[in-house]
Formats: sequence, structure tokens, C-alpha cells
Amino acid sequence: MLFPYKYVPHTMDRMQRFINFIFNEVWCKAPKSGAFRLELFDSNPDLKEVMTTFYYSDNKNADFFYGHIERIYGLFAELPRTDIRQFKRWHQGNNDILKVCANDPTTHIARYEDIPLKHKILIKQLNSFFTGLYDNVGIAAFKNKVGSLDEHYKAFMGINTIGKCPFCGITDMLGVYHTAREAYDHYLPKTYYPFNSINFHNLVPACHYCNSSYKSSKDPAFTPKDPARAVHRRKVFYPYANGDYGINVTIRLSKPDIDRLQPNDILLTFGPPELNEEIETWKDVYSIDERYKAKCCSGDAKAWLEEFRILNRAYGASPGSFRNTIDDQVVNNRFANQNFFKKAFIESCDHLGILDAIASGA
Ligand SMILES: [Zn+2]
Repeated sequence: MLFPYKYVPHTMDRMQRFINFIFNEVWCKAPKSGAFRLELFDSNPDLKEVMTTFYYSDNKNADFFYGHIERIYGLFAELPRTDIRQFKRWHQGNNDILKVCANDPTTHIARYEDIPLKHKILIKQLNSFFTGLYDNVGIAAFKNKVGSLDEHYKAFMGINTIGKCPFCGITDMLGVYHTAREAYDHYLPKTYYPFNSINFHNLVPACHYCNSSYKSSKDPAFTPKDPARAVHRRKVFYPYANGDYGINVTIRLSKPDIDRLQPNDILLTFGPPELNEEIETWKDVYSIDERYKAKCCSGDAKAWLEEFRILNRAYGASPGSFRNTIDDQVVNNRFANQNFFKKAFIESCDHLGILDAIASGA
């Protein structure tokens, strides 16, 4: 991940607080609370109002919420105290996205597949509820209380103004001046993880390529499933970290013939070394090697060299002055116009003598 997002507090955060209340105050207390009824929500008047609306509605979205919450309550009511304690640890672990990303050994996370099969019916209900929760969040009863995803997106992009996707750095993001918006990626995919599908620390706008074409449902917290190897936990960039990651990209080309450059002619290295594990996860999840090599072989890369040719012919720009200009552009804005990548590419070309060859009229 090239840079972290700033977390933007919003009324949508109430959704996760509703879920936390439902989990801790309703489900986990089910063994001692008697029959499921609206009074269970008394200490959360906003949520009680929503649940009351659902109770009297015959709308299928209302049925989705009310039905799941009631069914899961019934299943929790049968659980012994030790199982409730374990579910509490998983609920907390799955929502501590920062610690999950850091692979903190004190965090208890659980994917559906990690929950013992004796809870088969509960797993099915939790899966159906938490997978559908995000898609159903736009219904009117919630909208009055928490706002909408579109409103959240506008507020989010009003603060996160870099304009490029932080996961690839090369694709423009739809922003405050677009009527459409990018999708939110469930960083820990909702197909695998219960409890965090509406937690905005786990929801990150990403470009279509990063989200749909490459990451899809890959799990950043675990190495890929491979029959030949054991799957294990891994560190991954936390999307809402404080401060810049300072990722650097170095490109080395094995031949100077840019017109015939192929991905196999390109070697990419990334730093800093202390973030090596996070970088490897990032490269795996978003297929960074493939996409960055394709970028080196693209029209953009050829146009960067052409830009030097034009400046050299028209104004006598030298390789050094061209590189100094790009350095200034990077200092001014690393990500605008893919400056960070242009700098790495032009450096690699200069290393091979390509700029000198252009300057000498080749
Ligand atoms: Zn992207």
C-alpha cells in the first residue's frame, strides 16, 4: 500500500456500534434474558426504534435484519458460558483491524472456517447476516439514523484528496466531483470473516482494478491456500495507519530497447526493508509486480521518454535536468500523474544510458 487513508469519522460509524450492542448486550446475554423481544433493546433507543420499525414492517430487508437478529439470539441462548466467551474474543479480534494487520499474537481472529463445526447452524446464520448486512445498510430505517454510503464516500473523499488509489498508486479514484463512486473493499473479506462487515476500519475505497480485478476475495491476513504449503498468518498494511509508509520502488531494465520491452526484462524492488512482510503481502494481494511491469511496457512509459526527447530538442534539457525536474515533481506531489513511478522508470532508463542516447540524437 503506497499511502494510508485518513480515517473519517461519520454517522455511518453508528452501524458498527449497533452491531456491537446487538452482539454484546443482546446475543451474548441471551442465555439469561428469556424470550426474544423488543425490550432487549431498551438501553439503545435509536436501535430500538429501528427494530420496532422492522417488527411492524413486512419489507424483506426489515425481515432480513429482524429475522437474523432473532434467530441468532435463539442460537446464542443455547450456548454455554465458555462458548460465549470465545465468541466475544472473536468478535473483538475481528474488529481490531489494526492488530489483525500487524499480526499481533494476542488477537483472536476467526474466519467462518475456524469456528468449530458444532456451531454449524450458528455459523450459517452469522454468515448470512454479516455477508448481507453491508448490502442492506441502505434501507430507509437505517438511513435516517446513520446516513448513506454515498454520503460517507463524499465526506471521505473530501478529506482523502490524493486522487489516486492507495493500493496501486496508478489509477484515478472517483471523487467529490463525480456522481458515481468507487466500491468499498472489505479489507478482511466479508465472505470469510464474521462481525466486521460494516466496520469502517475494515472498509476501504479502492479502484476497480485493485478491488475487483485483483484482490477480489483474497485474504490479506493469510498466505494463499496452496496444497504444497501450510497456510499461515502474515502482516499486511493497515489502511488507516498514522503517517506515511514511505514505500520506495526501484526498477531495473535488462535491455535498452523500450519499444520491445517485455515484462521479463524488468526487475522491481521495493523498500524499506523493515516493511518487507507487509510489502510482500501487498504485492501478492494486488498483483503489483504484474501491473507495474505492464506499466513499464505501456504507452505512458514511452510518453515519459518522448517528453524528454521533446524537452531536449526544444530547450536543450539534459538527462540531469530532466531527472531534477521529475524529482521536484515527486517532492511537490508523489502521486499526481504517477510521478513516483515515472521517477523510478526514468531512473532505470538513465541507468541504461537511454537518456544519453536520446540526447545525442539516437
Ligand atoms: Zn488501485
